[in-house]
Amino acid sequence: MLRTHTCGELRIDNVGEEVILAGWVQRLRDKGGMLWIDLRDRYGITQLSFEEGMTPEALLNQARSLGREFVIRVVGKVIERESKNDKIPTGAIELKVTKLEVLNAAKLPPFMIEDETDGGDDLRMKYRYLDLRRNPVRRNLELRHRVMRETRNYLDGHYFIEVETPVLIKSTPEGARDFVVPSRMNPGEFYALPQSPQTFKQLLMVSGFDKYYQIVKCFRDEDLRADRQPEFTQIDCELSFVTQEDILNTFEGLIHHLFQKVKGIDLPKLPRMTYADAMRLYGSDKPDTRFGMQFVELNNLVKNKGFKVFDDAELIVGINATGASSYTRKQLDELTDFVKRPQIGATGLVYARVNEDGSVKSSVDKFYSPEDLAEWAAAFNAKPGDLLLVLAGGKDKTRKALNELRLEMGTRLGLRNKDTFSALWVVDFPLLEWDEEAGRFHAMHHPFTSPKPEDLELIDDRPSDIRANAYDMVINGVEVGGGSIRIHDRRLQEQMFRLLGFSNDEAKAQFGFLMEAFEYGAPPHGGIAFGFDRLCSIFGGSDSIRDYIAFPKNNSGRDVMIDAPSPIADAQLDELHIKLRNITASEKK
Ligand code: ASP
Repeated sequence: MLRTHTCGELRIDNVGEEVILAGWVQRLRDKGGMLWIDLRDRYGITQLSFEEGMTPEALLNQARSLGREFVIRVVGKVIERESKNDKIPTGAIELKVTKLEVLNAAKLPPFMIEDETDGGDDLRMKYRYLDLRRNPVRRNLELRHRVMRETRNYLDGHYFIEVETPVLIKSTPEGARDFVVPSRMNPGEFYALPQSPQTFKQLLMVSGFDKYYQIVKCFRDEDLRADRQPEFTQIDCELSFVTQEDILNTFEGLIHHLFQKVKGIDLPKLPRMTYADAMRLYGSDKPDTRFGMQFVELNNLVKNKGFKVFDDAELIVGINATGASSYTRKQLDELTDFVKRPQIGATGLVYARVNEDGSVKSSVDKFYSPEDLAEWAAAFNAKPGDLLLVLAGGKDKTRKALNELRLEMGTRLGLRNKDTFSALWVVDFPLLEWDEEAGRFHAMHHPFTSPKPEDLELIDDRPSDIRANAYDMVINGVEVGGGSIRIHDRRLQEQMFRLLGFSNDEAKAQFGFLMEAFEYGAPPHGGIAFGFDRLCSIFGGSDSIRDYIAFPKNNSGRDVMIDAPSPIADAQLDELHIKLRNITASEKK
């Protein structure tokens, strides 16, 4: 070994020992008579000291010539520090250097490699390998490693077997766009990268591997956001001979295990909420239940009083922002602007304050008497000091808008603390989702999801009311996992494909292999997949999954460090039988 200890290891007990350290020069402080260097490696920082008069002249000069991020190796004696630094574990000692070797010089880094850096996002992404030297970034990857290790520990302990599935496959049905890879050996044909190993894990059930898991890369060509990357990692699982109840229990166990081992937190038993209730009470299938502020529907209370907006609305629904009655006119205008933004799409915001004397003052006093408003307050269980915020319009749109407003108020009122965790299951999702544009149904989860047997009779007349044996796990308003009990019967699967508008031939071409497999003894089965990066970001208290990925892509799907994607040579295109048409300037962006 080039070193006897790491830079995070030496303590007061080591005083007097001769040691060898290696690492990067984080900082150099030259006070004339004394010279100190902070030497950094993955484990910490150790202070090196050189003293005029004591340290040989040549060594002192050598130390003075070092630059930031030089890689060096030093031999020296551990001594007690005069002024100790209680902020770092090695702060009681320093190393009196007797020998120094430069293992590699370094160019001046483009930003400070310290906890607080002066580097902007773009620069840090271009030099991600330098950014990864910084403590906060490294700690995120250490957290990721622990979550991964504990996931494997738990699943191994429950007799799951990890099986790898291929990356070059054909389209999978998760509803996003595929990334495709041209095949040189099969001219004009393409592989698709898996959006998930869904079909393979179901085939593994037919093969008798009754508890499968895989920590696996998945690929989806979607527009990117803070919690999305074109390639991301899932904890992908599938089980045979189980009911939905078994799956919920097994994976509630996994989440309990992870919270316990990674965060030292004992989560309570996860509550379950139906999709219908989640939409009614929170306007979202991934409610943030760290705070209440549940929706209160007012249709029975507010109609027929001459206020046209409410009279014409399909739904009038509001929230009680507890303690926010002191909101100023300006703050209320801000909220109105917020809900009117095109992404949110509300036409206006009605508010009512509950005054200290219990009287209610609203923005629609013209239409509602003090007695009417007292009834509103009662419906919201409002107390003096509360602020009621009400939206009206079409049901789905209004719920969606109020969900945004609820989250905004939760943030403003400090109710969305990153160190508080509220997890739940959302169950009984609809099987189908109507796509207005395409004029047909989509599978809400994916086409292999089994309908609830008791709802099957609705298949001809009210297909949109069929509920699925599908479930999501939600933590702090983030969907961290989802899955379903699958269809394992060829006839039902064919029926499902028909409902989704696949012709027999299309279904056969895309999923014939699976339907055929179902005829060779497919056990009842079901599964779930967790977004691994999202789980890490929740454990780490960040909104961005990028912080937990060693080499992430930016919002345009680019890796700016290696500069990918990039054009390929004509010869390579030729080999692949691909001819590019002209790409216009606007397509290039
Ligand atoms: N394949 C699904 C997904 O990626 C998860 C599952 O149904 O197991 O969301």
